[in-house]
Amino acid sequence: MGQAAAVPIPPGPTERAIEGLLSTLRGKAIRPSDEAYDAARRVYNAMINRHPRLIVQCRDVADVVRCVNFARDEGLAPAVRCGSHSVPGFGTCDGGLVIDLSGMKGIRVDPVRRVARADGGCTWGDFDHATHVFGLATPGGIISTTGVGGLTLGGGFGHLSRRYGLSCDNLISADVVTADGRMLTASAAENQDLFWAIRGGGGNFGVVTSFEFRLHPVSTVYAGPVLYPLEKGAEVLRFFAAFMADAPRELSAFFAYLIVPPGPPFPEQLHMKTMCGIVYVYSGDLETGERITRPLREFGPPALALGHPAPYPAVQSMFDGLLPHGLYHYWKADFAGNLTEPAIAEHVRYGPQIPTVNSAVHIYPLDGAVHDVAADQTAFAYRDVKFTHILAAVSPEPGPMPEYREWVRSYWSALHPHSAGGAYVNFLMDEGDERIASSYRGNYARLAAVKRKYDPGNLFRVNQNIRPAAKA
Ligand SMILES: Cc1cc2nc3c(=O)[nH]c(=O)nc-3n(C[C@H](O)[C@H](O)[C@H](O)COP(=O)(O)OP(=O)(O)OC[C@H]3O[C@@H](n4cnc5c(N)ncnc54)[C@H](O)[C@@H]3O)c2cc1C
Repeated sequence: MGQAAAVPIPPGPTERAIEGLLSTLRGKAIRPSDEAYDAARRVYNAMINRHPRLIVQCRDVADVVRCVNFARDEGLAPAVRCGSHSVPGFGTCDGGLVIDLSGMKGIRVDPVRRVARADGGCTWGDFDHATHVFGLATPGGIISTTGVGGLTLGGGFGHLSRRYGLSCDNLISADVVTADGRMLTASAAENQDLFWAIRGGGGNFGVVTSFEFRLHPVSTVYAGPVLYPLEKGAEVLRFFAAFMADAPRELSAFFAYLIVPPGPPFPEQLHMKTMCGIVYVYSGDLETGERITRPLREFGPPALALGHPAPYPAVQSMFDGLLPHGLYHYWKADFAGNLTEPAIAEHVRYGPQIPTVNSAVHIYPLDGAVHDVAADQTAFAYRDVKFTHILAAVSPEPGPMPEYREWVRSYWSALHPHSAGGAYVNFLMDEGDERIASSYRGNYARLAAVKRKYDPGNLFRVNQNIRPAAKA
């Protein structure tokens, strides 16, 4: 946490070997002695304070291939970085090689075929910017600075998922640099096992240098937050669960405990008040959206009910201001079959203790089109749960984090018995092998077998690691 003393870096490749790599790169290489090192080793979560041996800001696929070969040959674990949002900090490492893709941002949109190909370093802000001009989109995360890479490889859901599925469900193909330095295309037609595994299995199988996505006609959506007084929490949660059970797929909405941000569009009398709320986005016809979402704005009655048409990218960046780079994060999460009465009781008990305006208690529905895909059709296994929740303590200061972490842990422990067992891998911290396995349910053994085929030496292990299956 904070600016700790530099960790001694174990002996690694010789200067000569490093110089050899650098002479072949187009991108920039940063070493511990460089002025840029301290900023370049940092990731989104300020709790993470690691010291890689070398950071390469790749410019192209050739740079990636050279880095992978170098890491393998020199015995350095690579940490692959796209948007750097991994809360456990998998976009950096101690003593290894950071393969930073964040400078690789090319995107080609084919509006006729409704397909977009994005380089491995794009964020969702980059992606939405490129596709929105054609009135097209694909499901992505709800913060524009999150990487397309990490989010899609772990599954990926957002405001369009009830309608169009997970981000990984919209993947047509991907170019993957595997541990042996080859570049393989993974799709329904080529390397099908790899294609199956990268749709949920994270960065375990190689570096994805390019993602090809299916697009959908989404341009202006009908969206808004509705805030309710805290004492209505249990009623709002019950109403939310019942409302979403019958809601059309065009509607996305999540429940939140929050501290109201001190600025527009919120009226001054609500600033910094702890409340509960529902944030909704309707991606179909606007008039229908206004009508369908009216019960959300009338229930309660609410303390504030907003709703208006908005460009899809504006909605996708609505929370960016609250969650800039460099805050201190501690999260825990689970999937939940349903919002049961015991779970509601725990939310009502712990949710109102949310510590800061940057923190989040979100309950996202995970149904609709997400359930159209069978649990074994991709690596993402939880296709039957209705919700996933995230309990995130986020602070601009490191000092109170131990106390905030206790709040997250107690909340999670109380809820966990009412959950489905595992968690969305992209919401996991560094929680150990058992937790990873439980998040893949029946798909874990197959993932381990694919891992053995493409990465038998477990080169790509700075992630929610799937260990290669032992030889039969
Ligand atoms: C503020 C915030 C909001 C979020 N909102 C959502 C949301 O709405 N929906 C959702 O589903 N998730 C969400 N997440 C979780 C998010 O999906 C994960 O944090 C994800 O890992 C971030 O991906 P990244 O590329 O930004 O992170 P990184 O830290 O760069 O990478 C994360 C992991 O993915 C691997 N990886 C990344 N890119 C590649 C690549 N091209 N090839 C191979 N491996 C790669 C990395 O090695 C690492 O293991 C959010 C996270 C944050 C911090």
